[in-house]
Parts: sequence; structure tokens; C-alpha cells
Amino acid sequence: MPKQSMLEKYAALAVNVGANVQKDQHVVVRATTENQSLVREIVKQAYLAGARKVSVDWSDDIVSRLGYAHQSVETLEDIPEYVVNKAQYAVDSGACFISITSPVPGLNKGIDPQKMQRAGIAAMKKMSFFQTHMMGNKTQWTIVAAPNTVWSEQVFTDLKGEEANEALWNAIFQACRVTEDNDPVQAWEAHNDTLSKHNKILNDYQFETLSFKNSLGTDITLKLVENHVWAGGDEVTTKGVKFNPNIPTEETFTMPHKTGTNGKVVATKPLNYQGNLIEDFWLVFKDGKVVDYDAKKEKDTLKNLIEFDEGSCYLGEIALIAHDSPIQNSGILFLNTLFDENASCHMALGRAYPMNVKDGTSLDQESLKALGYNHSMAHSDFMFGSEDLEVIGTTKDGKKVTIMKDGNFVI
Ligand code: ZN
Ligand code: ZN
Repeated sequence: MPKQSMLEKYAALAVNVGANVQKDQHVVVRATTENQSLVREIVKQAYLAGARKVSVDWSDDIVSRLGYAHQSVETLEDIPEYVVNKAQYAVDSGACFISITSPVPGLNKGIDPQKMQRAGIAAMKKMSFFQTHMMGNKTQWTIVAAPNTVWSEQVFTDLKGEEANEALWNAIFQACRVTEDNDPVQAWEAHNDTLSKHNKILNDYQFETLSFKNSLGTDITLKLVENHVWAGGDEVTTKGVKFNPNIPTEETFTMPHKTGTNGKVVATKPLNYQGNLIEDFWLVFKDGKVVDYDAKKEKDTLKNLIEFDEGSCYLGEIALIAHDSPIQNSGILFLNTLFDENASCHMALGRAYPMNVKDGTSLDQESLKALGYNHSMAHSDFMFGSEDLEVIGTTKDGKKVTIMKDGNFVI
């Protein structure tokens, strides 16, 4: 386990910067049984921040896996009303959400992906009101990570058990700007300022398209929706409360037009989907849709993601990140999107964020779709940034501006 003082700082960061818990607010913490000590510290910090009540939604990865292995598809697809009611209660009580992610790589190896797919679709259908609530920034929510032994040992292959966990804790603290001698809350205020300056420059340009090229074979052009909004760093709820959805975050991202992507993109990091690692893959798009793809490992898993639903073969996000970023510089492949996506430029297959278009959070789904918004129950980021990536923006009047050269911002 990490030092108590570091765990406290990290928990306080999740509570005060991540969720920005307000006085008398209900706080829901979602975590697996692997992360007890962090959960307890977060609960304590939330009460110190003035929470009225803190509830913890526990899950256990091994128990979940046993369910997938032994339950029938019909049983897995049966989402009881009390699960829906519980989420509805949290929404109605104005709760904010702190999720601790601690995925176990390879956990679901050997489980029929079709079975997981159908269970996932059934859950997401019943819970779509909840997704809409969160994605529409109706309340504060944040995701932070914590190690588990399987994950730690895969990241640090020469270490075992507690030693590997310790190393991953240290890497997470470093990536999240939590050090022995700083005040992470202050460090994040400065970091959020830098990100918002970047957003402003890109928002002022209002590029019509972005073109990406590198020596690995990426050669792709994305049309952006009109009146797109570049965001990143802190966000604001519809009630005006600031929060940081992801800790860490380094990205500046916006909304591609659903049908405006053409060309090929080559991934530069593995993608962890449904507990499986998709490696060395590429996608070809035509008029926004994936029309061809391949992967050296887990091609079937990639197929499941692409064919998940009507929108999962279209893009919902494009994010720019300098190649010279703390996570990339650490040289650590975290095997976890929350970190790896912040090492590198990425795109997401699936749902777009309404906040990435002007007044988007107050529009209904049909109006959003008319603007080029992609709807899906999936949202999976994959990395394609590289040290030789070039990004060129073209404005409405045809002016070309180099945004990134050799993987870094030049604007
Ligand atoms: Zn992103
Ligand atoms: Zn994303």
C-alpha cells in the first residue's frame, strides 16, 4: 500500500477537484472490492468536504466473471427494476459520482464475447437515462484509478505482488500530479488553466476539417461539426459547478461530424475492451463509417466493438495531446485507457459528447443528430498519436494551419 499521506492527497484530489463535492451533496462512490483503502479514504474526504451522505456501490470482478461464465444469456439480460430505481434515486437526490476504475486485464478471457455483448446492451438500454444524465453534465462525476495485482504485474513485468502494486501506485500519483511536497489541488488549478488556454485558440479557429498524417500509415481527414467546442480539463455542470471528469487528463477534444471522416488511422497503443487487449490494429473510414479494419490480436473483440450498435462504427470524439506529455514521457504503458489516452492523440468509436457542440447539453438527441452528433451506447478511445504525427487544420475559407508537427503543438 502507498503511504497514508499520499493516499489522502489522492483521495482529496478526487473529492475536491474531480467531483468537487458540494456542501450537503449526496455522493455515490463506485468501486471494486480490490480498492477498499482508497474507498474508505475517499468517503472520509467527501464527508470532510461537507457531503450529506456518501453511498458506496461495490462490485467484485471475480464475482462478475463467474456470473458471465455460469448465467444464461436470458438471466444476464434481465436487469431488475431495483437496479434502475437505485440509479434513479441517485439522480433524483442530486448525487455526484466518484468511480474508481481498477480493471483486471484479461479477466474475461474465455468468456463468450456475444454473451457479454448482449448483457451489456440490455444493461445500457435500461440505464440509458443514467448515461444521458452523466454525459449531459447534469451533475459532477469523476473517474480515478487504483491498482490491482494482476494489472500492476502486467505493467511492471519484472515485479511481483505488493512491489508491483507499489510501483503502479507511484506511477499513478506521478501521472495525476500528486507528489510528496505539492498541493495537488493547486497543481490542478494551474493545469486546468493551461488546458483552457489551448481550447480557446482552437475554438477561435473553428476549423472545418483536421488532417492527420504519419509514417505508420495514418492518413485521415475528419470534418468537425459546425460550432464545435474544444474542451478539456475542467467542465461545468448544467447547474454551474466545475468538476474534472477524468484524473488525469491532458487532452483537448471535440466532436467530429458523424459522416465526415475519410481515410486510414493506425493505432499506436493497444485498446482494452471488455477485458481483452486489441493490439496492432487499423481502421479505414468512408463517409464516417468503418468500412475495413484489421488487428494482429483480438480482431473478434474489435469486431464486437465496431458492431456493438448502429453508432459504434462511427466516431464520436477527436482529441489532441502533445507527444511530449507526462504520461508519454514516463514511458509506461498503463494498459488502461484513462492513462494511455492521455499519452497520445486519440479518437473514440461511438457516442459523442453533447458538450462538444455549442448549446449541445440543452438540445435533445434528434436536434443533436441533425448537427452531425453520433449516438451510440459505446464510447471507446483508441490512441494513434506518434512522434512524427502532423495535424493540419483547414478553416472554412480554405486557409491551412499546422496545429501539430512531430507530435507536438505548434500553434
Ligand atoms: Zn478523450
Ligand atoms: Zn473518449
